[in-house]
Amino acid sequence: MFSNSNKATISNHHLGDPYNPTIMNKSVNLKRLLLITGVIMALFLLVKESGTAQTVVKQNSEQAVPQIKEYKCTPCGCSEDDTIVHEPGKCKKCGMALINIHDPNEGLNYTNLTAQEVCKLIETNPELILLDVRSTAEFNSKTSPLGRFKKAINIPIMEINNRIAELEIYKDKEILVYCSISARSPRVSKILADSGYKKIRNLMGGLNNWHQQSSSELPCQASAIQKF
Ligand SMILES: [Zn+2]
Repeated sequence: MFSNSNKATISNHHLGDPYNPTIMNKSVNLKRLLLITGVIMALFLLVKESGTAQTVVKQNSEQAVPQIKEYKCTPCGCSEDDTIVHEPGKCKKCGMALINIHDPNEGLNYTNLTAQEVCKLIETNPELILLDVRSTAEFNSKTSPLGRFKKAINIPIMEINNRIAELEIYKDKEILVYCSISARSPRVSKILADSGYKKIRNLMGGLNNWHQQSSSELPCQASAIQKF
Protein backbone atom coordinates (compact mmCIF):
# COMPACT_ATOMS: atom_id res chain seq x y z
CA MET A 1 0.00 0.00 0.00
CA PHE A 2 2.67 2.35 1.07
CA SER A 3 4.81 1.72 -1.90
CA ASN A 4 1.88 2.07 -4.30
CA SER A 5 0.68 5.36 -2.88
CA ASN A 6 4.26 6.53 -2.74
CA LYS A 7 4.71 5.68 -6.44
CA ALA A 8 1.52 7.52 -7.23
CA THR A 9 2.72 10.52 -5.32
CA ILE A 10 6.06 10.42 -7.12
CA SER A 11 4.33 9.96 -10.42
CA ASN A 12 1.99 12.88 -9.79
CA HIS A 13 4.89 14.90 -8.60
CA HIS A 14 6.75 14.16 -11.80
CA LEU A 15 3.84 15.19 -14.02
CA GLY A 16 3.43 18.45 -12.19
CA ASP A 17 7.11 19.39 -12.31
CA PRO A 18 8.03 21.36 -15.43
CA TYR A 19 11.73 21.02 -14.65
CA ASN A 20 11.67 17.27 -14.45
CA PRO A 21 14.34 16.04 -16.98
CA THR A 22 12.13 13.18 -18.27
CA ILE A 23 9.32 15.59 -19.16
CA MET A 24 11.86 18.04 -20.60
CA ASN A 25 13.17 15.27 -22.92
CA LYS A 26 9.65 14.30 -23.96
CA SER A 27 8.83 17.93 -24.67
CA VAL A 28 12.00 18.43 -26.71
CA ASN A 29 11.32 15.22 -28.65
CA LEU A 30 7.77 16.37 -29.37
CA LYS A 31 9.04 19.75 -30.57
CA ARG A 32 11.59 18.02 -32.82
CA LEU A 33 8.91 15.71 -34.17
CA LEU A 34 6.63 18.64 -34.89
CA LEU A 35 9.51 20.54 -36.52
CA ILE A 36 10.47 17.57 -38.72
CA THR A 37 6.81 17.00 -39.66
CA GLY A 38 6.51 20.68 -40.47
CA VAL A 39 9.61 20.64 -42.66
CA ILE A 40 8.38 17.51 -44.50
CA MET A 41 4.97 19.11 -45.02
CA ALA A 42 6.61 22.31 -46.30
CA LEU A 43 8.84 20.36 -48.69
CA PHE A 44 5.88 18.33 -49.88
CA LEU A 45 3.87 21.48 -50.54
CA LEU A 46 6.87 23.09 -52.26
CA VAL A 47 7.36 20.11 -54.60
CA LYS A 48 3.63 19.94 -55.27
CA GLU A 49 3.53 23.68 -55.96
CA SER A 50 6.50 23.60 -58.34
CA GLY A 51 4.94 20.59 -60.10
CA THR A 52 1.74 22.55 -60.54
CA ALA A 53 3.75 25.54 -61.78
CA GLN A 54 5.54 23.35 -64.31
CA THR A 55 2.24 21.93 -65.50
CA VAL A 56 0.87 25.45 -65.93
CA VAL A 57 3.99 26.53 -67.88
CA LYS A 58 3.74 23.40 -70.02
CA GLN A 59 0.07 24.01 -70.74
CA ASN A 60 0.83 27.64 -71.60
CA SER A 61 3.67 26.68 -73.95
CA GLU A 62 1.43 24.10 -75.60
CA GLN A 63 -1.23 26.74 -76.02
CA ALA A 64 1.43 29.12 -77.42
CA VAL A 65 1.77 27.01 -80.59
CA PRO A 66 0.24 29.23 -83.28
CA GLN A 67 -3.27 28.08 -84.04
CA ILE A 68 -3.92 31.00 -86.36
CA LYS A 69 -3.44 30.15 -90.02
CA GLU A 70 -1.18 32.48 -91.95
CA TYR A 71 -1.28 32.74 -95.72
CA LYS A 72 0.82 34.64 -98.20
CA CYS A 73 1.40 34.67 -101.93
CA THR A 74 4.71 32.90 -102.59
CA PRO A 75 5.29 34.43 -106.04
CA CYS A 76 4.72 37.95 -104.67
CA GLY A 77 5.96 37.16 -101.15
CA CYS A 78 9.42 36.36 -102.45
CA SER A 79 9.80 39.84 -103.88
CA GLU A 80 8.15 43.11 -102.93
CA ASP A 81 4.93 42.06 -101.22
CA ASP A 82 5.12 39.95 -98.06
CA THR A 83 1.57 40.59 -96.82
CA ILE A 84 0.22 37.90 -94.48
CA VAL A 85 -3.51 37.21 -94.20
CA HIS A 86 -5.40 34.71 -92.06
CA GLU A 87 -7.77 33.31 -94.68
CA PRO A 88 -7.04 31.17 -97.73
CA GLY A 89 -7.75 32.85 -101.04
CA LYS A 90 -6.14 34.33 -104.10
CA CYS A 91 -3.52 37.03 -104.41
CA LYS A 92 -5.03 40.33 -105.53
CA LYS A 93 -1.86 41.13 -107.47
CA CYS A 94 -1.04 37.99 -109.42
CA GLY A 95 -4.12 35.79 -108.92
CA MET A 96 -2.15 32.85 -107.51
CA ALA A 97 -3.58 30.80 -104.62
CA LEU A 98 -2.23 32.02 -101.26
CA ILE A 99 0.04 29.52 -99.50
CA ASN A 100 -0.43 28.44 -95.88
CA ILE A 101 2.95 29.32 -94.35
CA HIS A 102 2.72 26.45 -91.82
CA ASP A 103 1.46 23.89 -94.36
CA PRO A 104 2.74 24.98 -97.80
CA ASN A 105 0.83 22.23 -99.62
CA GLU A 106 -2.65 22.86 -98.21
CA GLY A 107 -5.18 23.01 -101.03
CA LEU A 108 -2.59 22.73 -103.84
CA ASN A 109 -2.55 20.30 -106.77
CA TYR A 110 1.26 20.40 -106.93
CA THR A 111 3.82 19.93 -104.16
CA ASN A 112 6.02 22.63 -102.67
CA LEU A 113 9.40 21.24 -101.63
CA THR A 114 12.21 22.72 -99.55
CA ALA A 115 15.77 22.74 -100.87
CA GLN A 116 16.55 19.78 -98.58
CA GLU A 117 13.62 17.79 -99.96
CA VAL A 118 14.68 18.56 -103.53
CA CYS A 119 18.21 17.39 -102.72
CA LYS A 120 16.80 14.04 -101.54
CA LEU A 121 14.61 13.82 -104.63
CA ILE A 122 17.57 14.40 -106.97
CA GLU A 123 19.57 11.74 -105.14
CA THR A 124 16.80 9.14 -105.07
CA ASN A 125 14.96 9.62 -108.37
CA PRO A 126 17.26 9.31 -111.42
CA GLU A 127 14.21 9.80 -113.68
CA LEU A 128 13.38 13.20 -112.19
CA ILE A 129 12.77 15.86 -114.84
CA LEU A 130 14.22 19.25 -113.90
CA LEU A 131 12.33 22.09 -115.59
CA ASP A 132 13.92 25.54 -115.54
CA VAL A 133 11.31 28.21 -116.30
CA ARG A 134 13.63 31.23 -116.33
CA SER A 135 14.39 33.05 -119.55
CA THR A 136 16.80 31.40 -121.99
CA ALA A 137 19.31 34.18 -121.25
CA GLU A 138 19.20 33.40 -117.51
CA PHE A 139 19.37 29.67 -118.18
CA ASN A 140 22.48 30.04 -120.36
CA SER A 141 24.09 32.87 -118.40
CA LYS A 142 27.81 32.45 -117.93
CA THR A 143 28.00 35.31 -115.43
CA SER A 144 25.09 34.38 -113.10
CA PRO A 145 26.24 32.91 -109.77
CA LEU A 146 23.10 30.76 -109.70
CA GLY A 147 24.05 28.35 -112.46
CA ARG A 148 21.41 25.74 -113.27
CA PHE A 149 20.57 22.17 -112.29
CA LYS A 150 22.47 19.50 -114.20
CA LYS A 151 20.38 17.89 -116.98
CA ALA A 152 17.73 20.63 -116.65
CA ILE A 153 15.55 21.50 -119.62
CA ASN A 154 14.52 25.09 -120.23
CA ILE A 155 11.03 26.27 -121.10
CA PRO A 156 10.64 29.95 -120.10
CA ILE A 157 7.39 30.80 -118.32
CA MET A 158 6.40 33.08 -121.21
CA GLU A 159 6.51 30.11 -123.59
CA ILE A 160 4.95 27.42 -121.38
CA ASN A 161 1.43 27.62 -122.83
CA ASN A 162 2.74 27.23 -126.40
CA ARG A 163 5.29 24.53 -125.59
CA ILE A 164 3.41 22.43 -123.01
CA ALA A 165 3.17 19.59 -125.57
CA GLU A 166 6.93 19.11 -125.28
CA LEU A 167 6.38 17.87 -121.75
CA GLU A 168 3.69 15.34 -122.72
CA ILE A 169 6.27 12.48 -122.75
CA TYR A 170 7.05 13.25 -119.08
CA LYS A 171 3.44 13.33 -117.93
CA ASP A 172 3.81 10.29 -115.64
CA LYS A 173 7.20 11.33 -114.30
CA GLU A 174 8.09 13.55 -111.41
CA ILE A 175 8.83 17.07 -112.68
CA LEU A 176 10.67 19.59 -110.53
CA VAL A 177 9.88 23.16 -111.59
CA TYR A 178 12.29 25.88 -110.53
CA CYS A 179 13.40 29.44 -111.25
CA SER A 180 15.48 32.03 -109.41
CA ILE A 181 13.31 33.06 -106.43
CA SER A 182 10.19 30.88 -106.86
CA ALA A 183 8.11 33.69 -108.31
CA ARG A 184 7.64 32.05 -111.71
CA SER A 185 7.88 28.35 -110.83
CA PRO A 186 4.64 28.19 -108.75
CA ARG A 187 2.70 29.62 -111.69
CA VAL A 188 4.13 27.05 -114.11
CA SER A 189 3.59 24.32 -111.49
CA LYS A 190 -0.07 25.29 -111.30
CA ILE A 191 -0.45 25.43 -115.10
CA LEU A 192 1.02 21.91 -115.41
CA ALA A 193 -0.98 20.50 -112.49
CA ASP A 194 -4.18 22.02 -113.90
CA SER A 195 -3.28 20.35 -117.22
CA GLY A 196 -3.29 16.90 -115.65
CA TYR A 197 0.34 16.52 -114.56
CA LYS A 198 0.12 14.57 -111.31
CA LYS A 199 3.70 14.72 -109.98
CA ILE A 200 4.65 18.38 -110.16
CA ARG A 201 7.12 19.60 -107.53
CA ASN A 202 8.07 23.23 -106.99
CA LEU A 203 11.39 24.30 -105.46
CA MET A 204 10.45 26.82 -102.78
CA GLY A 205 12.72 29.87 -102.78
CA GLY A 206 14.27 28.94 -106.13
CA LEU A 207 18.00 28.77 -106.87
CA ASN A 208 18.66 31.87 -104.77
CA ASN A 209 17.48 30.12 -101.63
CA TRP A 210 19.28 26.94 -102.73
CA HIS A 211 22.64 28.70 -102.66
CA GLN A 212 21.86 30.38 -99.33
CA GLN A 213 21.61 27.03 -97.50
CA SER A 214 24.60 25.73 -95.57
CA SER A 215 26.40 22.99 -97.49
CA SER A 216 26.24 20.70 -94.43
CA GLU A 217 22.44 20.84 -94.54
CA LEU A 218 22.31 20.49 -98.31
CA PRO A 219 24.70 17.69 -99.34
CA CYS A 220 24.01 18.01 -103.10
CA GLN A 221 24.14 21.83 -103.10
CA ALA A 222 27.20 22.01 -105.35
CA SER A 223 27.06 18.62 -107.06
CA ALA A 224 23.54 19.17 -108.45
CA ILE A 225 24.48 22.48 -110.04
CA GLN A 226 26.07 22.93 -113.44
CA LYS A 227 28.23 26.00 -113.68
CA PHE A 228 29.94 27.35 -116.76
ZN1 LIG B 1 0.85 37.28 -105.77
